[in-house]
Amino acid sequence: MLNKKFDNSDNSQYRWDPFQKEWIIYAPKRNLRPFQGKKFEKEPEKSWTCPFCPDAPEGAGKWIVKQLTNRFASLDENKHFMVEKIMGSFKKTAPNYGKCEVILYSQDHDASFGTLEHQNIVALIKLWQERFDAIKKMKDMKYIFIMENRGKEIGNSMTHPHGQIFSFPFIPPKIEKEYSAFKEYNEENNSCLLCDILEEEQKELNDGVNSRIVCENDDFLAIIPYYAHWAFEIHIIPKRHFRSLIELENEEIDTLARIMKEVVLKYDALHGNGEIMPYVMAMHNVPVNLHKNSQFDYHFHIEYYTPFRGKGKLKFLAGVELGTGTMICDALPEFNAKIMRDLNAKKP
Ligand SMILES: [Zn+2]
Ligand SMILES: [Zn+2]
Ligand SMILES: [Zn+2]
Repeated sequence: MLNKKFDNSDNSQYRWDPFQKEWIIYAPKRNLRPFQGKKFEKEPEKSWTCPFCPDAPEGAGKWIVKQLTNRFASLDENKHFMVEKIMGSFKKTAPNYGKCEVILYSQDHDASFGTLEHQNIVALIKLWQERFDAIKKMKDMKYIFIMENRGKEIGNSMTHPHGQIFSFPFIPPKIEKEYSAFKEYNEENNSCLLCDILEEEQKELNDGVNSRIVCENDDFLAIIPYYAHWAFEIHIIPKRHFRSLIELENEEIDTLARIMKEVVLKYDALHGNGEIMPYVMAMHNVPVNLHKNSQFDYHFHIEYYTPFRGKGKLKFLAGVELGTGTMICDALPEFNAKIMRDLNAKKP
């Protein structure tokens, strides 16, 4: 239990790791967040068990998709991102400025992304666009991260279909690396790294050799990249070059909704037994409020990672991955892409 003398719950902050050169979020308050089925300790009178269902205050009203403030947020938009050095030069901390939102995908507790109606997913993409547009007006935000954690295997305690938006006052390390790679490639080749990768992937499909393409439609391609970190990692990539989801054209909202559903249905079919596949959906948009923009410095895409590596088998990050940062992947992308391509998931 918490030491009463030390208010662990109100001590959220960032701390700088001087070796990895990255910020860590300290969010003691998150330990107090509710689990589905367990009633809030401070609110014993509540009759509902899921806070996102229509019988609970947050889920009430008429809506298709809905944005909520995360009540157990690790980041706080009312703070300021002021870096403070403590004692020596290696201890750096900053208030946990940022923003955490919850996005409800449906009123139906038992729905999942794969069972949502097409128009429901279209409404969801439009809500993501609306939120992205609103948050980027906060001039101190540098990165808006739209994501979904799905399944108990990856620690999601709430089964009601929902995702989250985390907004940061800095560019997180993985995005920073990706963004630098785009910029470097552009400086050397005067083109977009992902556009060039796509061109090769499509050529290999036409040649009929070792394709990594899982499925495609007029505007998007879903592939297990040549350099996948996870056995069944899938990236959805637009064929047209653009940098963030607010640049989606109307017909692309439609085709994006279709391919996202197709990918999730394939995942669910792969998992089998009528159970949903655990995954993380990470939407990669260009950082916001940049001092300098260039056309080819980023290409919008969505990445899905799943710990699933075969029936009844999950991948855990262990010694080599955690101790050195080098991934060991259990299958070649070409091999698993064929399994995914051949899966008979019903077409959305
Ligand atoms: Zn619910
Ligand atoms: Zn591009
Ligand atoms: Zn990415």
